[in-house]
Amino acid sequence: MQYTPLEDIPRIREALRDGFRSGKTKIVAFRKEQLRQLGYMVQENKQAWLDAFKADLGRPYFEGEIHEFIATVTAIKDTYKSVEKWAKTENAPFDISSFSMHPKIRKEPKGTVLIIVPFNYPLFLSITPLMAAIAAGNTAVLKPSEHAPTCAALLHDLIGKYLDHDVVRVVQGGVEETTKLLELQWDHISYTGNPRVARIVSAAAAKHLTPITLELGGKNPVIIDPRCDLETAARRILWAKCANAGQICVAPDYVLVPREVQGKFIQMLKKIHEEFFPDGPAKSDSLSRIVSAAHTQRLASLIQQTKGEIVFGGDIDMESRYVSPTLVLNPSPGEPLMKEEIFGPILPVLPVNDVDEAIEFINARDHPLVIYVFSDSSDFQATVVDNTQSGAFACNELLFHVAAYGLPLGGTGLSGHGLIRGKFGFDTFSHFRGCVNQAGWLDKVLLWRRYAPYTESNRR
Ligand code: NAD
Repeated sequence: MQYTPLEDIPRIREALRDGFRSGKTKIVAFRKEQLRQLGYMVQENKQAWLDAFKADLGRPYFEGEIHEFIATVTAIKDTYKSVEKWAKTENAPFDISSFSMHPKIRKEPKGTVLIIVPFNYPLFLSITPLMAAIAAGNTAVLKPSEHAPTCAALLHDLIGKYLDHDVVRVVQGGVEETTKLLELQWDHISYTGNPRVARIVSAAAAKHLTPITLELGGKNPVIIDPRCDLETAARRILWAKCANAGQICVAPDYVLVPREVQGKFIQMLKKIHEEFFPDGPAKSDSLSRIVSAAHTQRLASLIQQTKGEIVFGGDIDMESRYVSPTLVLNPSPGEPLMKEEIFGPILPVLPVNDVDEAIEFINARDHPLVIYVFSDSSDFQATVVDNTQSGAFACNELLFHVAAYGLPLGGTGLSGHGLIRGKFGFDTFSHFRGCVNQAGWLDKVLLWRRYAPYTESNRR
């Protein structure tokens, strides 16, 4: 991957501003053409994308196709089909006191925007905000993660080939390049990543009063109802924890299990672990690797420091960046494993007495990106959703809520703010401009009353 020279970065921003000022992105047909090109860019290069995911994340082809490739193509198609409807000027609701002004809401692009993305879903997390920005009529700089360098280089080359050079550019690089980008003024910044860097992005944006969207992570809990189908719960939880080797913002972080079924639940997890990896996970073709040596080391130290019992796993190979799926029973709530987002295939399981204790445990911490519940009881589900806060809430299913058509994706509190999916993303990158148009003749019949001098007859 070749980093973008720092001195080119202000020039890139200027070129995109000129592209915006040219007015071409205001034409919806032009936006659709760019979205179509984006679709071709993904579809025509399927194998290159799957190979790039494998190179950067050791990701199995099946996972690359199902979790990222198909999700990206579907999202582009939806946006392509909907952009005309979303971009339409809307009439304000009828109101007797203002209808004469014909109040309307124009959906206007914000201008030139900056999109910073992480390594874990390098295509989907780049394209989702990018297509929303294009659909809304903006020009954009995309800054992919340096930790997924094959994907970043592919994005750079293919976007250069498929999309208008005045509309989208990719800046490649790491902290220095992102810092340079953040010194400049943008009309919106979308950042997906961790809360530490989100504070740096927020501070830089505040200098220019730039609006921002933050898609962050957190510790996503799973609450188990003792009456649920424990085998299905265990199978779905272990699958979601192992997908992309746990490097997913909506991965289940830890499980709160009622004491009365804890033993049975652990046995289920052990059985399913053996089913998933009959020859052991190290030899399996169905497990991704950790993105970097630093992250592998971080996960190794979480395992080394745990005060919990390691039921299975705990194996690390630094050279191949391998961390085995690891089940940790009853870690201390104060240890690092339970304080930071794990973002790896380690699953802590903590016993609780009941749902109230589980809710108390969650509410004593930052708002997660998603809360998961395994229960067939609508009362149990309602008790959790009504008494907690999180970006999303999912019952009996994991990860897939991200793909549910029409739902927003976003956090609350420390898991982020703002929404980037579908129509929500279009709105994020749009300015809703209120417009009115009053007829002059109304002064003759009604509006003359507002003018000075204010006399008794004005009031009547
Ligand atoms: P990362 O290390 O790839 O960093 C993300 C981006 O920030 C990169 O483009 C990087 O160049 C830039 N960056 C890093 N340090 C910087 C600095 N000091 N100054 C300026 N820019 C800097 O990825 P990450 O942040 O470790 O990503 C993982 C996190 O992202 C997890 O917390 C995960 O939960 C979250 N995430 C959230 C979502 C969501 O939709 N809410 C999706 C995916 C990931």
